[in-house]
Amino acid sequence: MDHSKLRPESLMMSYGYKPELSQGAVKCPIFQTSTFVFQKAEDGKAFFEVAYGLRERSEGEELGLIYSRLNNPDLEILENRLGLWENAGDCAVFESGMSAITTTLLEFLSPGDLLLFSNPIYGGTDHFIKQILTRFGIHVLGFYPWEQDRLEEIVRKSGKADRLKMIYVETPANPTNILIDIAACSRLAKTFGTSEKPVLLAVDNTYMGPLWQHPMKQGADLVLYSATKYIGGHSDVIAGACLGSKELIGRVKGLRSFLGCMAGPWTGWLLLRSLETLKPRMETQASNAAEVAAFLKGHPKVRKVHYLGFINEPAQQAIYKNQCFSAGAMLSFDVQGGEPEAFRFLNALQLVKLAVSLGSTESLAEHPATMTHVGVDPAEREKLGITGGLVRLSVGVEHPDDLIGDLKQALEAV
Ligand SMILES: *Cc1c(COP(=O)(O)O)cnc(C)c1O
Repeated sequence: MDHSKLRPESLMMSYGYKPELSQGAVKCPIFQTSTFVFQKAEDGKAFFEVAYGLRERSEGEELGLIYSRLNNPDLEILENRLGLWENAGDCAVFESGMSAITTTLLEFLSPGDLLLFSNPIYGGTDHFIKQILTRFGIHVLGFYPWEQDRLEEIVRKSGKADRLKMIYVETPANPTNILIDIAACSRLAKTFGTSEKPVLLAVDNTYMGPLWQHPMKQGADLVLYSATKYIGGHSDVIAGACLGSKELIGRVKGLRSFLGCMAGPWTGWLLLRSLETLKPRMETQASNAAEVAAFLKGHPKVRKVHYLGFINEPAQQAIYKNQCFSAGAMLSFDVQGGEPEAFRFLNALQLVKLAVSLGSTESLAEHPATMTHVGVDPAEREKLGITGGLVRLSVGVEHPDDLIGDLKQALEAV
């Protein structure tokens, strides 16, 4: 059997793990150890030479296990499996989505460089870009989805086009599901980049998980995840990941080992377990979301549903067709009225939990304007359509009729 032809979901239970190295255990054990014994001093010397980049790995030479801040079997197997979904050269896992994002930004940006980024963006990322990166003399320039077709002009007008180093996008945008064209951003990166000084394109793909959008196929160099969301999928672990070419991830792993923000073995093991059910979970969530969205669309107390399956604007539709494999399981909607009506709805929910976060087996609802997006300037919130009546839903794996029943009774309270 040609294992290179197997699909990722067929490999999630076994890939990269050798039972004979672990007493025949069918599952990878938790390697809860800080350090690893070298068989002889020469081995330790060889492992360090490779880990510190003092020489290239020779043909077939594996990086020996040294110390769990540098490598650990639970993390390495997890990284290999995560990479399969997108055919990435390599992957680095982190103790949180934020540490994946911040380590990646810090590795590739230097004082004087320009970072172009899409709005709206995850609150933690927004804060890091505007408040922390700027402290180190990095120039940052945000753009809105409706400015997508004049990005080249925006970059040129900034006067720092020659220092453009990275384009960072999050698509679909949270919480309104507006899409950013990844392929167009990749062309923009090529317009301003040269072979000596490439402009990198990084995409936060958390909202679509590894199943529904493959940014590297659209030209992205780096793909970031909060693995807390779909990848972990059970609301029981915080973790993150960065995927890309061997060369770029080598650099990310280098900085990760000095910042010390790698995931621990227990987190790695939890995510290995989660990956086995990634596809069935996400597919059930997406089909539930389609039913929930259809129910909400026809409801008299709902003004508008923001769901990728309902796009009718032609430019957005074209992006959707080109880069998304599914409408996903995240949607938001405006209840008739404002904050009081949205709160009445949220407080009346029984099956759906009132909590932030997303992508998990249980359905979650929250109020972006006063919760996840409370840090966004009110005028900007209004511009982005984050109104008082907006509710965000992450649809889980419950029976769709039960979900709809809960939403229905909660809407009656509005
Ligand atoms: C949750 C989230 C993050 C941050 O991830 P943590 O795991 O909470 O650190 C980043 N980006 C997006 C889109 C997210 O939803």
